Amino acid sequence: MSDRLTALISDIKEQILFMQELGVEAMHADLSDRAAVAETAREEEPFVIRSAADIPDLTPKTKPAEPRVENGSRLSALPSLKNRSNPNLRSVTPKAQEPTMPETKTEKSLDAALFDASPALPQTSETIEDIRADIGNCTRCELWEGRTKIVHTTGNLSADLMFVGEAPGADEDAKGEPFVGRAGQLLTKIIESIGMRREDVCIGNINRCRPPNNRKPTIQEAHTCRPFLMREIAVIRPKVIVVLGNTALHNLLDTKTGITQMRGIFHDYFGVKVMPTFHPAYLLRDPHKKREVWEDMKKVRDYLKQAG
Ligand code: URA
Repeated sequence: MSDRLTALISDIKEQILFMQELGVEAMHADLSDRAAVAETAREEEPFVIRSAADIPDLTPKTKPAEPRVENGSRLSALPSLKNRSNPNLRSVTPKAQEPTMPETKTEKSLDAALFDASPALPQTSETIEDIRADIGNCTRCELWEGRTKIVHTTGNLSADLMFVGEAPGADEDAKGEPFVGRAGQLLTKIIESIGMRREDVCIGNINRCRPPNNRKPTIQEAHTCRPFLMREIAVIRPKVIVVLGNTALHNLLDTKTGITQMRGIFHDYFGVKVMPTFHPAYLLRDPHKKREVWEDMKKVRDYLKQAG
């Protein structure tokens, strides 16, 4: 049997095991040559500024949700409310509408190389506890009014692998922990499918308070809360971040390109590999997309294995 056939059989076996892990009891093969169907409006809709009225007022309500920056610290290079026009940001920002991004670049001019050089994560002396203390009993955006508990990043806070979602739902709001509802149970299975345990990884969200009726956080709400996550990433220093769905993707990589185009390819966030993939809540609505998530997670597993 040729090597390719052996590899194919082993891949199919892995895929079936993944489906079993995720609780899929039956599958049907769709062999038609359809183009990939876009995600639902919620998953796909890029945040587009259509008019001046859509431009968010970035002025924090009370205390600015900014990273604390020491003079000259590379923390100042982190995307933040003040640094939205930082040219370094472009180096971590995949270009809009780019269907694929080469995983490694080969030839480029010196100028381009200098412009593109991704800065590493800044060194920071703060701790996760410092960041929690800074968040405090937060009232920086309106989401505090409806929350029961602030949902902080949890798990192994020095993990190689981090997952970032959108915002807490009802279960998370009640418990004060991210991804503990149905989508969270599926996320646990996804983690286990690559041979890891939930407690091996860390899990956070762009927003820490539940939006009313589980609506998507507004741009302003996301921009108010995400600096805390970015500061945590500088403390945790994971090797890979899996961004789950469009809100996490758009807010971490500062792109408007949809998850369907960005998933499956490693992108860069200050030297950290970022793998966008579908949100588990979306997989609950469209289980056929589990195949793509499996492909993405295998890349994450293989990268972590070779990175040691
Ligand atoms: N969906 C998210 O994006 N985050 C959670 O914590 C739960 C559901």
